[in-house]
Parts: sequence; C-alpha cells; structure tokens
Amino acid sequence: MTHIYNFSAGPAVLPKEVLAQAAADMLDWHGSGMSVMEMSHRGPEFISIYQAAERDLRELLAVPANYKILFMQGGGLAQNAIVPLNLVGHRAQPASIDFVHTGSWSGKSIKEAARYAKVNVAASGQAGAFTGVPPQSEWKLTPDAAYLHICTNETIDGVEYDFVPELPAGATIVADMSSHILSRPVDVSRYGVIFGGAQKNIGPAGLTLVIVREDLLGKALPICPSAFDWKIVADNESMYNTPPTYAIYIAGLVFQWLKQQGGVAAMERRNIAKAELLYAALDADDFYQNRVAKEYRSRMNVPFYLRDESKNEAFLAGAKQRGLLQLKGHKSVGGMRASIYNAMPIEGVQALVDYLNEFAGR
Ligand SMILES: *Cc1c(COP(=O)(O)O)cnc(C)c1O
Repeated sequence: MTHIYNFSAGPAVLPKEVLAQAAADMLDWHGSGMSVMEMSHRGPEFISIYQAAERDLRELLAVPANYKILFMQGGGLAQNAIVPLNLVGHRAQPASIDFVHTGSWSGKSIKEAARYAKVNVAASGQAGAFTGVPPQSEWKLTPDAAYLHICTNETIDGVEYDFVPELPAGATIVADMSSHILSRPVDVSRYGVIFGGAQKNIGPAGLTLVIVREDLLGKALPICPSAFDWKIVADNESMYNTPPTYAIYIAGLVFQWLKQQGGVAAMERRNIAKAELLYAALDADDFYQNRVAKEYRSRMNVPFYLRDESKNEAFLAGAKQRGLLQLKGHKSVGGMRASIYNAMPIEGVQALVDYLNEFAGR
C-alpha cells in the first residue's frame, strides 16, 4: 500500500492504531464471536462499549456532572434544527435566538433556526469576507434571547474563536464545535450546549455528539420529533432508538487513543506545532495566501490560495503524486484546504510543507 496523508475536511483521517484495532476486532470482538456491527445495542457487550466511550469522553473534556452526553444521529446540520426545537419550547413564540455569523456553517445554522424562531444576527464577518470573528464589543445581543449560537471553528473558512464569549449570568451559549472538538481543552461549564458531528475530528460519519447542561432539558417545542428530543434521548441513555453503534465503537477507540496520547492538552500542543509549521510555509512569501486574521486562524482547517490560480490543477496533481490527498478547497470558496485534525501526524504536515516549498521553487 502506498503511503499517503489525507487532508480531507471530513470524513477525515483516523488514527492508524484505531483502524488496526477495529480490523482486529472486526469478526470477533473480545471473544464474543460477533462483530460490533452485529451486536444488540441493549446487550451487555455493546453496553460496555457505550459506557466506556461515555466515560472516556467525559474524562477527556472534563465534562461536569450536571451535563449529559448524548450520542445522536443526523450530523451538525440536523442539530441546526434540533437545537432550536429543544431550547425554545418554554418561551413565548416566536422566541428570539442570537447568532454570530462567522462563515458557511454558522450561516446554515441561521437559516435553519429561522424556521422555528426569530433569529437575530448579532454580528457578522461577512463584510470582511469571513476572515475573523467580529469582536464581542460589537455584538448586538438581544436581552431576552433564548440562547446565543456560535460556530467556534468554521471548517470551510478556517476561522477559529480564540475566546469564549462573556454573557450576562443566566444566558446560554450553544457552540457548534464539529471540526475542532477534542483538539484543545475546553471549559464546558461556559457553554449550555456543545455539539459536533463525529466525522471531522472523532470518528466515522453517522454519529453526532451533544453535551448539554441538565437544566436545559425538557424545553422542547411540541413539534420536536421524539427521537430528537434531548430529554427523551438523555432519559434513555441515547438508546431511545437504535444509536449508530459501530460509529460509537470507533469513537470510543479514538477516545482511548487520545488518552494514550496524553489527552486534549497534549493534543493541543501538537496541534499548535502543526499549525505553526503550515502557516509559516504559507506566509513565507506571497506565492500562497491564507486570508484569515492571524489570531483567528484555525488550527484544524487551513484554507489557502495560490497567488497564480492557473497553477491550481498542477499543484493538486503534484500533491497527489506525492501522496498528499484531498487538498482541494471547498467548492464554495475555491482554492486549497488542508485539514490537520488530531489524527494527522506532524510528519504529514512536514510532507505538505516540503511540497509547498518545492512547488513555490524555494
Ligand atoms: C461538517 C460540519 C457541519 C455539518 O455536519 P453534517 O454531519 O454534514 O451535518 C456542521 N458544522 C460544522 C462546523 C461542520 O464542520
């Protein structure tokens, strides 16, 4: 097999050790005679897998005891509806929700929430072509908003928050952390809800994590589908309906791998080193360009452009020859993008940097 480095934004690279473990377990998990895929989600084998995954994630992110961890389906996009459906039921209708628009994903969240509530865009980075997070001093928050929604890492635009918003006591922050969850420590207690699709930095597509403070449960609109009602999901330990069992199993292996690596603080140190290496190569001269303001540059998703875009195809072809895969930028913004999630080793980033230098004739 040729050696490659996969820079896909998601579904994305997984740790080789995890894939090897999954391969070894494929036909017979721990002497059960069954593949994890064949197990009842209510049987003792799978329950033990589920409980270990929940426990390890709680430990990795230091999730406080008054927060539930839900293993759901539908991805980040489904949560764009599920979040408002769960958080505005106790309010006079239509309830107000604040958003900070920092790129493609928060933009989609705004559109979807508008079907269930009155949305207020408290601040937008659109005029600046989404090259940073508008400073909180400029946000026009609604005093009685049900919550504030932010996307703390914009996967397409490469914009990452370097701060947690300060809100008045009692206000709730909902954060879409799909593409940088577990890449750095996070103070969960500052948020009411954290959600993320697994296929960026955790595991296979099909699993969505929701971390929700307990007092926010039980506020769903009557039209909220039962399988998406966080309280019902929480009361049933994520087994109200059949959860994505195999994806949970792989995510659990990733959580074990993260613990072996030293946890999220250790991952953050590595991710900083990887990001510094890559941005330095992009900034070396004007052959390449990343347009995001330095303090908001994502450590996970690094979009960049060739100054001479007529060289794009040649750049991608040369990258592929060297085993550097999936570097084409998102179709909505063009250019290139290198996603360097937890499972991307620094050797992969170094190989990309070597190629960037070579292609630029440095
Ligand atoms: C990928 C992504 C989503 C959407 O995830 P799906 O699983 O495709 O629904 C939402 N938010 C962010 C920040 C993402 O990166």
